[in-house]
Amino acid sequence: MIQTDFMRLITADYIFPISEDPINNGYILINHDGEIVSLLNEAEFSKENFENIPLEKHHGIICPGFVNSHCHLELSYLKNLVPQKKGLAGFVRDLQKIRNQHSEKEILLAIEKAEQQMYDNGIVAVGDICNGNSSFSTKAKSKIKYYNFLELFGFENDKADEIYNRALLLSDELVKTAGLNADYSIIPHSPYSVSDKLFKKIGESCYAKGNIISIHNQETKDENTLFKSKSGEIAQMLLSFGLNLDQWNPSGFNSMPSVMVHLPKCNKTLLVHNTFTNKEDIEWVNNYSKMIWWCFCPNANLYIENALPDFSIFKNLKNRLTIGTDSLASNHNLSILEELKTIQNNTNFFSMDDLLKMATQNGADFFDYKELGSFEKGKKPGVNLISNVDLKGLKLRPESAIKKLV
Ligand SMILES: [Zn+2]
Repeated sequence: MIQTDFMRLITADYIFPISEDPINNGYILINHDGEIVSLLNEAEFSKENFENIPLEKHHGIICPGFVNSHCHLELSYLKNLVPQKKGLAGFVRDLQKIRNQHSEKEILLAIEKAEQQMYDNGIVAVGDICNGNSSFSTKAKSKIKYYNFLELFGFENDKADEIYNRALLLSDELVKTAGLNADYSIIPHSPYSVSDKLFKKIGESCYAKGNIISIHNQETKDENTLFKSKSGEIAQMLLSFGLNLDQWNPSGFNSMPSVMVHLPKCNKTLLVHNTFTNKEDIEWVNNYSKMIWWCFCPNANLYIENALPDFSIFKNLKNRLTIGTDSLASNHNLSILEELKTIQNNTNFFSMDDLLKMATQNGADFFDYKELGSFEKGKKPGVNLISNVDLKGLKLRPESAIKKLV
């Protein structure tokens, strides 16, 4: 006999538990704490007596809360300010020009608004990039779970110690101010913005602490060109920042294999963007490490590069694909559902179940958030309703919308 006080009973056209096949006209019973008590199909439901619990009936798909595995909450104040489709080098240059024109108060208000938007969009956990402390106070009082990636830049070897020590100070501040949301790793920004020495320092420390790692990967074609031939727009951008590339030698390979050798093989590593990753890169890195996850941020890729990853080459990695929104500097909103629509509209390699798994369980696996990601009994994953769905074809429509139910 189930104790039914303060329980919620929710039904919809489809329930996608992720841990098992979708249930047509399924039912989900949740306790006052958001914990999954049971999941029933129509036949099982008809045998139970839930008379004293009001039934919440919805049209559409019910799925667990979303995990946003790549965001930069601290850049929220740059919404609609960076011009679109100018390529990564152009984006970074434009970003540098407008970065210091806002007050602390404006930056904080934008962070709080963006965080509320994520909550309303059914996001329950976020892997968030931090360059500074501006997001810490919001995280301290947030209902969303955050993992903080303290991100380092520094292309000059002789500055590695200084840059790393600054990150240690930032981590102290995070631990003091972000309450329950103070979990963190110190990570490299990207292959083209971190020196070999800094890479090694970060890699050694992540290895020693067993930390998860995240790195921007192959977001632009010229990231590969830099490592192959020390030319292209990223090389020009580095020179325009006044960096001296005389001592830096290209590896002759693509960017990702050139730098992954500095990172430990046994730590979970999230490669973010992968817009210009090819089949050989995937094969290489999966031979190098068995701990690789991939994050797609398609709407940011369209915003910055007007390009998308070749999704077809990832079709055998369905358990290792996650979704990120990137920041409001490079996206119109922080919505996992909008990212899924873009993937669905540009490839037919993924079913609705695959897409929802990328948005939920896979991210939860990467961050090791055991309570999140699926409707297994005892978990507290959050409950989302996706309405206005094509229920016959099980496809998202442009007008499909998200509502957080739990
Ligand atoms: Zn990013």
